Amino acid sequence: MYDRFNRKINYLRISVTDRCNLRCRYCMPEEGVILQPHSSILTFDEIVSFVKVAVSMGIDKVRITGGEPLVRKGIVDLVAMISAIDGIKDLAMTTNATYLRKYAFELVNAGLQRVNISLDTLDPEKYRQITRGGDIEETLDGIDAAFEAGLRPVKLNCVIRDNHNESDARTVTEYGKTIGAEVRYIREMNLSSGQFSIVEGGDGGNCSICNRLRLTATGKIKPCLFNDMEFDVRELGNEEAIRQALDKKPACGSYNNTGDFYNLGG
Ligand code: SAM
Ligand code: SF4
Repeated sequence: MYDRFNRKINYLRISVTDRCNLRCRYCMPEEGVILQPHSSILTFDEIVSFVKVAVSMGIDKVRITGGEPLVRKGIVDLVAMISAIDGIKDLAMTTNATYLRKYAFELVNAGLQRVNISLDTLDPEKYRQITRGGDIEETLDGIDAAFEAGLRPVKLNCVIRDNHNESDARTVTEYGKTIGAEVRYIREMNLSSGQFSIVEGGDGGNCSICNRLRLTATGKIKPCLFNDMEFDVRELGNEEAIRQALDKKPACGSYNNTGDFYNLGG
């Protein structure tokens, strides 16, 4: 499917939960996170019905994200249900990896092909500070598990303040080389003020080639991360919501006051 600027839209990012076991300082407030009631969160059947329609309209690349996707109960079953849909060529997940040791093999069996893992530093104390309590050993063990289970490629998402030469990013670069993982450098963004930039090593943030739609955990299609617009799949129905989102997808991002990374999926 094409939008009105003739961009081919074939990539769907699905946020399967707004919950997370970490509290990264750039993503979630420390306290007072407003979590959606369970009744607002799309069920597995609703997500799968949506993906089927999206695939029939031209989506062939799907990423599962969150919040932390691995805290959603039954996540392996959901991956299996999505991977069984005919027409998906690329099925990936973005995760903080803290539960990957537990799930990596099951996820591969369920049809997950690859992962992006968030890692901003190799320093255990800084990791604890950035994530407000995370244990880097769990994350590094999760990364090992991803390799052992055969998820490929394993990419590392490294949030940077300024540029990829800052010291934490350099340690992630070195670590990536040692283990054979590509690193994507994402400048820390602020949705409400519209500060966004192109992801180094990825396609994100480059409006002219944007190929994505996002589905939030509560069933809103966001045609652009940097725009307030959203289309409710429960209200409009899957196909109509996709059509309207496609029709209104802006040429370029501006700012977004209706959500944050943890409930929009990044
Ligand atoms: N919990 C998973 C994780 O951390 O990988 C998936 C969801 S997280 C919202 C998706 C991505 O968004 C992560 O790579 C994270 O680093 C990034 N992210 C979160 N807040 C950000 C911000 N303010 N600026 C840039 N990237 C951000
Ligand atoms: Fe959780 Fe990922 Fe946000 Fe960190 S970046 S708080 S791991 S959703």
